[in-house]
Amino acid sequence: MSRASPQVQNISVLGATGSIGSSTLDVIGQHPDRYRVFALTAHTRIDELKTLCLQHRPRFAVVGEESHAQRLQGDLRAAGLATVVLAGPQGLCEVAAHPQVDAVMAAIVGAAGLESVMAAAVAGKKILLANKEALVMSGALLMSAVREHGAQLLPIDSEHNAIFQCLPCNYAEGLAPVGVRRILLTASGGPFRKSSYAELEQVTPAQACAHPNWSMGQKISVDSASMMNKGLELIEACWLFAARPEQVEVVIHPQSVIHSLVDYVDGSVLAQLGNPDMRTPIAHAMAWPERIASGVTPLDLCALARMDFIAPDLQRFACLRLAIESAQAGGAAPIVLNAANEIAVAAFLREQIRFTHIPQMIEDVLNLGIQGQIDSLGGVVEIDQQARQQAQAWLKKQSITAGKRA
Ligand code: NAD
Ligand code: MG
Repeated sequence: MSRASPQVQNISVLGATGSIGSSTLDVIGQHPDRYRVFALTAHTRIDELKTLCLQHRPRFAVVGEESHAQRLQGDLRAAGLATVVLAGPQGLCEVAAHPQVDAVMAAIVGAAGLESVMAAAVAGKKILLANKEALVMSGALLMSAVREHGAQLLPIDSEHNAIFQCLPCNYAEGLAPVGVRRILLTASGGPFRKSSYAELEQVTPAQACAHPNWSMGQKISVDSASMMNKGLELIEACWLFAARPEQVEVVIHPQSVIHSLVDYVDGSVLAQLGNPDMRTPIAHAMAWPERIASGVTPLDLCALARMDFIAPDLQRFACLRLAIESAQAGGAAPIVLNAANEIAVAAFLREQIRFTHIPQMIEDVLNLGIQGQIDSLGGVVEIDQQARQQAQAWLKKQSITAGKRA
């Protein structure tokens, strides 16, 4: 396959079978003159990846396991495709850093996405960052790799994309020098915004995944229901926009039409609005600084009629409190917060623990005071692994206690 003509950008879509991956492929499909799919990756949903490969004919495909790679390679060859199938984290890094790649959509969920985001940064790529966990875990490292290697980091998270659109371009040294008082990070409040603590104790994974405004992957849906998502986003905002935690204020806005705001010292408040559809931030970041159509329905303000704003309740939504405290503590805390949360959410989805156990487990693991070096990827991964082990130990203890009670 020859190099794309200069105006056509080669994109690697990491996490192609997910919610963001599918919205990305939708936008790419609307602009075949501008974008070409260079690589597609999936973890276990091999049949879905095969369908996407037949549709987009990428140069590379990456799956989680070698045995799956061999099967997919055989199927694609039989269908007459020249796609090369790779496996595992190394394959992800290869398609993130490949010399022919112009942009990388980082849409793997969780810590599993960290290494490939870092590989894209070190290779100086344009990174379209949906994988917020990578920034939460290794913000300092990732931001310095981006600077050092001339990469570009464009936020896909709708709130951060909104903030990026409302900020002046020269915020890299901090918000105060450019006249910004604070960032107002909006949150929908999720499906349990009005639930009492007693009700939260009883919620099921299906209820937690039924988000009122957005259709997303399971992990981020649970994070939205617990408001951990907003906590992770606060940490993400601090790294992206050189902000201190106290410069980011969370506001609940149930309609999810204002995606976030920037408050300037002269009293001006700039907001970015739009229908809740991830194709808007995806198209914005893909084309930046130009604008392209995304397929999103125009906003109808009269149909919307009203917009509400409410302060978050940090007692009922303890995950948000824990994330704010971790942002203030810095160091290993955000890594521990993220790792314990991933274990807790997976256990909740398996119906092993209650929804209200999620913040309890995270707080207990945070209180262990795990420390380590955060100035290398190896150090970050070590802290992540330690926190996961402690979270697993917490789960074991919990199930023994629950067993004794039964
Ligand atoms: P999803 O669960 O729908 O998709 C996740 C993707 O990651 C899948 O393609 C899956 O194959 C891949 N994946 C999972 N585990 C993997 C592993 N161990 N190794 C390699 N690949 C793996 O998730 P999503 O909702 O698309 O979210 C993706 C990321 O984008 C998350 O970090 C999320 O926080 C962020 N994000 C999502 C939305 C949204 O609207 N969905 C909005 C903002 C940010
Ligand atoms: Mg978001």
